[in-house]
Amino acid sequence: MSYVIPAHTMPSLPVAGESKSFPVRRIWCVGRNYLEHIREMGNDERQPPFFFAKHADMIVGEGAEIPYPSLTKDFQHEVEMVVALKSGGANIDPKNALDHVYGYGVGIDLTRRDLQMASRKKEQPWEIGKSFDFSAPCGALRPASEIGHPAKGKIWLNVNGVEKQKGDLTELIWNVSEIIAKLSLQVTLGAGDIILTGTPAGVAALKPGDRIECGIDGIGTLKVSIK
Ligand code: MN
Repeated sequence: MSYVIPAHTMPSLPVAGESKSFPVRRIWCVGRNYLEHIREMGNDERQPPFFFAKHADMIVGEGAEIPYPSLTKDFQHEVEMVVALKSGGANIDPKNALDHVYGYGVGIDLTRRDLQMASRKKEQPWEIGKSFDFSAPCGALRPASEIGHPAKGKIWLNVNGVEKQKGDLTELIWNVSEIIAKLSLQVTLGAGDIILTGTPAGVAALKPGDRIECGIDGIGTLKVSIK
């Protein structure tokens, strides 16, 4: 295939202990998947979680210095477990869903909260609040062949050494199998798709100069900063 303009570079994530990288196709995110976060945001806890998307080239990696984004005065962190798929399909049975998982990582669903809230009030799409340059920091993946499929473990995020977010994977409303099965009703999932699985309570505003460190027990850590 030849193109009329230069083809873009494939976004990718490193894999711990492996020289080859994981090519990222699409980024899916789960909204409202931890009860305490639904409560802190004042949302209806009886409503099921749902999905939204970011673009693959919004990924940044370990050590990234992330520019404070345009248009916002309330730029917030949401630490999340990342699930990376090696295969996919439509209408996936939850019983087989984990067979599609290549591995797991730690990510942050960076959010322009004021713009997200404004679009919610106006019943407009969430893109302006969720989908912007550098909005998806992700650390190295750990293959499921090494670590299995983590269903418990602390998920946490510190800003300048102070703990802001803390939860446990046991608190996920939809577990990983359910997330994959539900999302595959909406789109045909494929190899390279990654899913950010929702954030625990404690989301808060960031400012230039902040140093973020986050992690999930049994999966890994991720450090980035805001400039
Ligand atoms: Mn999120």
